[in-house]
Amino acid sequence: MIKAARKGIVGNGIETIKNLANLLSSKNYRGSVIFTAEPTNDQRKMLEDICPTKALFSVKENNAMGLDNGKCIMCGYCSEVVSETIKISNKPVIPVKMKSQIIDYSNPQTFPSEKSYEQIGNELKEKIQKMFSRSLAIRQVDAGSCNGCEIEITALNNPIYDIERFGIHFVASPRHADVLLVTGPASRNMETALLRTYEATPGPKIVIAVGACACSGGIFGDTHATTGGIDKVIPVDVYIPGCPPRPEVLIQGLLLAVDRMITNGK
Ligand code: SF4
Ligand code: SF4
Repeated sequence: MIKAARKGIVGNGIETIKNLANLLSSKNYRGSVIFTAEPTNDQRKMLEDICPTKALFSVKENNAMGLDNGKCIMCGYCSEVVSETIKISNKPVIPVKMKSQIIDYSNPQTFPSEKSYEQIGNELKEKIQKMFSRSLAIRQVDAGSCNGCEIEITALNNPIYDIERFGIHFVASPRHADVLLVTGPASRNMETALLRTYEATPGPKIVIAVGACACSGGIFGDTHATTGGIDKVIPVDVYIPGCPPRPEVLIQGLLLAVDRMITNGK
């Protein structure tokens, strides 16, 4: 942040992301889980036991191991225990439209685009103009998150990502929103509030589940205090896995949401 502010003052004006690929190749970033070989029966058992969110599961019919990216919190336990067959990549998991697409059996779903953040943002801006002839309004709803996802969402408005220049802004009321960006596992205490927020949002509306918690309950799971994912309470149009997902992935999820609005007339 200090570096960005300094560059803004003494450098070449506003500092924005020029190259998404550079950011996403940060070697310390903990991203998607990759199978480097098929786990043995014993390893599968061990992995199922060690995974805190039960993201890893055995598929008995074909002796394979499945990975539910919507549940994975990128803790890295699996790669520590069975390092011969599993490792954590530095690539994020991509947003998807359907929950079934979130499950992975062999290769990781890595970020699909070589496009820069600027290019994705400009594509989004063009589509928003075409669809709405105005800007896109987002209402963020915290349905019981740890606030990790909010930190990444807040980053979209900082001088680096500056999402407003693409015609996207956050609003305080669901009555003014086109998109609901929901985080958290939908705690029981937030269930009614979430439902009412959804009902108060005028159609056509798009709901985006942000983070492992919103996609599946994440580390909180499905308990007496949590519903196990926001799609248990309201319909979801786009799932953005990750714990938390980075701003570069959030903007990709927004592009998917606008595409869905255009194709479905939603
Ligand atoms: S990284 Fe953690 S949550 Fe994800 S599959 Fe491995 S053990 Fe499970
Ligand atoms: S997905 Fe991770 S960062 Fe986001 S609310 Fe859940 S625990 Fe927090």
